[in-house]
Parts: sequence; structure tokens; C-alpha cells
Amino acid sequence: MEHPFDLIVLGAGSGGLAAAKRAASHGAKVAIVEGDRVGGTCVIRGCVPKKLLVYGSLYREQLEVAPSFGVELSDARINAGVLLANVRQEVDRLNALHIDLLAKNGVELVTGWGSFTSPNSVAVSRNGAIDASQELHGDHILIAVGGRPHRPDIPGAELGWVSDDMFMQSSFPDRVVVVGAGFIACEFACILHGLGVEVIQLVRGDHLLRGFDRELSTAVQDGMQGKGIDLRFGENPAALKGQPGDLVLSTQSGERFSCGGVLLATGRRPFLQGLNLDAAGVVLEGRRISVDANQSTNIPHIFAVGDVTDRINLTPVAIDEGRAFADSVFGQKPRQVNHDLVASAVFSQPELATVGLTEEQSIDRYGKDQVKVYRARFRSMAQALPKRGPRCLLKLIVDRNTDRILGCHMVGEHAAEIIQMASIALAMGATKADFDRTMALHPTVSEEFVTMT
Ligand code: NDP
Repeated sequence: MEHPFDLIVLGAGSGGLAAAKRAASHGAKVAIVEGDRVGGTCVIRGCVPKKLLVYGSLYREQLEVAPSFGVELSDARINAGVLLANVRQEVDRLNALHIDLLAKNGVELVTGWGSFTSPNSVAVSRNGAIDASQELHGDHILIAVGGRPHRPDIPGAELGWVSDDMFMQSSFPDRVVVVGAGFIACEFACILHGLGVEVIQLVRGDHLLRGFDRELSTAVQDGMQGKGIDLRFGENPAALKGQPGDLVLSTQSGERFSCGGVLLATGRRPFLQGLNLDAAGVVLEGRRISVDANQSTNIPHIFAVGDVTDRINLTPVAIDEGRAFADSVFGQKPRQVNHDLVASAVFSQPELATVGLTEEQSIDRYGKDQVKVYRARFRSMAQALPKRGPRCLLKLIVDRNTDRILGCHMVGEHAAEIIQMASIALAMGATKADFDRTMALHPTVSEEFVTMT
């Protein structure tokens, strides 16, 4: 069989784009197949537009505290419609930029949905029909198709929004119910609240952000409640009724919430629909494509990176997996991705960021006696004049035997920026003594990390 491409990449999101361009830079002949917009979740309907909405949603509070800094404003008005339109315009710009970058790197963009017809060939369909003239053949195939939001299995779930839909609104209704307690639920609850929407957030458990350090998730919870977000714990959605703009969400406990919109932020799953993995012989592990440390599936020339592998579902991880694959297979520079000490942030308000082990994980792994916890909880100087706002929480988890810092966590202003830098120190094996030896930079929030006793 003819193999005109060295590499076919399925999916032009963060991982696929990074792999395609890197492979092409090593001289490979590359095609990338994408049925949706080039850019993927991060650029089109995730990190980028979300962060822009976060920026926009911060202004209302800034306007409220402005008088305490001597700034007098009148007639300020939040127009979410303008913000949403501007965000979409920026997404359009980035989408065009990524298409242009593919061309500049010599990667052939094939528009349509890829579907395996054999271990080395992919058919492409458009508008639901396979284009018989376009079957691609490749020596290597990379599956980088990402994930999709998952709706809970309740009657009327299709009436709710998933995160993708949030970016396509022309405005937001006065009252929204957010279902879920993870990244997306907390981020959107805060965005909507900041834009003046009344938000009720339904959490099926007893706390937000399961899996994060518990004290940090409580700090986010306090901050969100302090702002006026109505958090309801122990509430499971049961059914959604009504019509767009006029909905009633009922819960298993019998509560009923009327609102203009419901965001179902109940997790994401690998997007396997239509791939026809059987034709390639790729086996699944549950709902994900399982790969080894070299991103290889059970079929040695078929690889997978990013959210479709459901390991650490973050953009920088997918990019590094894609580049490591391309460097190893096409660049004679074999390398594996380090999945340890990956920093992450929730752009809630207050913001949470974290690297390393939580207090709970450290105790599980090393035992309570071996773990020392340092914390600082305080009001930042930015709040001195307005006399309002959530407290910051900074936390270090230290191994008593080695003095090594196992985890570095923060809730508060600029948490993500600060933890990004702290993650370098942790990756280098920093100890508490290293932190203590570092002179404080005053007055900052993060100086507390080097003055904790
Ligand atoms: P998460 O897995 O973070 O959270 C899903 C939430 O939905 C959990 O609170 C879960 O509850 C709840 N849930 C699941 N099923 C149901 C149900 N049937 N009824 C009620 N609640 C339910 O998923 P997200 O969608 O928020 O985010 C997906 C992934 O996207 C993240 O894990 C992250 O990798 C990535 N992401 C990263 C961001 C960032 O880096 N800032 C931002 C956004 C997304 P429970 O806890 O009880 O299981």
C-alpha cells in the first residue's frame, strides 16, 4: 500500500498542532485532519476564551471598590454581550493564526472528520458523508482528538448548556444554575457572578474541587460564598424541564430551581465517536486510549496524546506529549514526558493554584508524623483600603525527614502566576531551607512563601 504521509494527525487541538508542526520541522510529510475549527478545546472553547471572560468578569468588583482608592465612576454598566462578541473575535484571530502556522510549517490541513479504515489509512467525512476521493495513508498516525463535555444522564439534559455553549451566547440570563464542583463549574460560576448574573451552584458532594488540597478548596468555597454565589451541597440533578431561557431544574432531594439557563459542568470524556478504532486494532482501556510512556498505543505505529488518553488533561501536558512524540519518532531525539509535578490552576475567584502533593496525599504517602504543614492566611494589601474580599491562603507541605517541599499551594490573587514560578523550585528539589534562605520581596503576597515559620 502506498504511504504518502509520514504522519497523519487526527485532531488540530493543542497536542495535535504541536506534534504536527514539530514532526514537519524534522522533515516529515504531515497531514492534520480536523472536522471542527483549528485550535481545539483550549483555543476555541476552553482556556483562552475562558480566561478572557475571567478578565472581563473582574471589573464589576473593581468598580465597586474603586471609590476607596479615590476613583469616582458613575454610569458604569456591564455588557456581557460586548465581552462575548470581543472574545469570539479574538478566538477567530487565533484560529486564523493557527491555520496560517500550519501552512508556514508545511503541514497539510485536511478539513473533515477522520475515521480509520485500516491501521494505516483514514477516511475523511464531511457533513456526515465520507469523501471517497480522500482516503489518507500514513506510516504513523497520531490520535489527538481531545475530549468533549459529558452531560449527566437525566431527563431534559439536552436543554442545559455545556461549557462549549457558554462562549456562543449573545448575553447571559439574570439567573443561572451551575451543576458540578470541578474546574469548569467553579470558573463559570465566578465568571457569571462577576458579570452580574445570580448564580446557584449545585454540588453533589459536600465540598468543591474534589482532589485538590481540602483546605484550599474550603478557601475557594468561602471566597465564592462571600461574593454571594449560592452554593448548595448534597444536591444531585434529577430532571430539567422548560424551554431555552425559562427552565426548571429539579434535584433528587425535591428542590426546584427556576432559571434562565443551566450549565452542566459535570466532566469531560475522551472523544472517540466516529474514529472507528476497531479498523485499526487500537484497544481501549475503559473510555480512554491507553498509551505507554512513548505515547504509543497497542499498535506500534499508532500514537495518542492529550485528553483522549485521559491522563493529565491540561493544554501544556498535551503540547509536551505531542512534541515528545515527534522528537522521538521523527527527530532522533527520544524523550519521555515528565508527568510529575505538573502545576495547575483553577481560575475561580479567588484563584487557586497548586503544584505537588496535597496535605492529604502527603499524609497518605508518608504518614502524618513525617509531614509538616506550613500555612499563612491573611488579607492582601490590595484589600486594605476597600476592607473586603477573600483572604489569601498559602501552604507548604514539607517532608520532615528530607526537608523537601512536597507541595506548594495557594488561593488568592495571582496564585497561578506565583505557583508557576514555585514549580521550578519544586522540580529542582527545593527544601524548606532553600525557601527560607531566599530573601523576601516586599510588599508582595508571595513573600509569605519564604517567611513561613
Ligand atoms: P471535573 O472532573 O473537574 O469536575 C466534574 C464535576 O462534575 C465534579 O464536581 C463532579 O462531582 C461533578 N459531576 C460529575 N457527574 C455528575 C452528575 N451526574 N451530577 C452532578 N455532578 C456531577 O470536570 P470539568 O468538566 O470541570 O473539567 C474537565 C477537565 O478539564 C478538568 O479535569 C481539567 O483537566 C480540564 N480543565 C482545566 C482547566 C484549568 O486548567 N484551569 C479549566 C477547565 C477544565 P464529584 O466531584 O462528586 O465527582
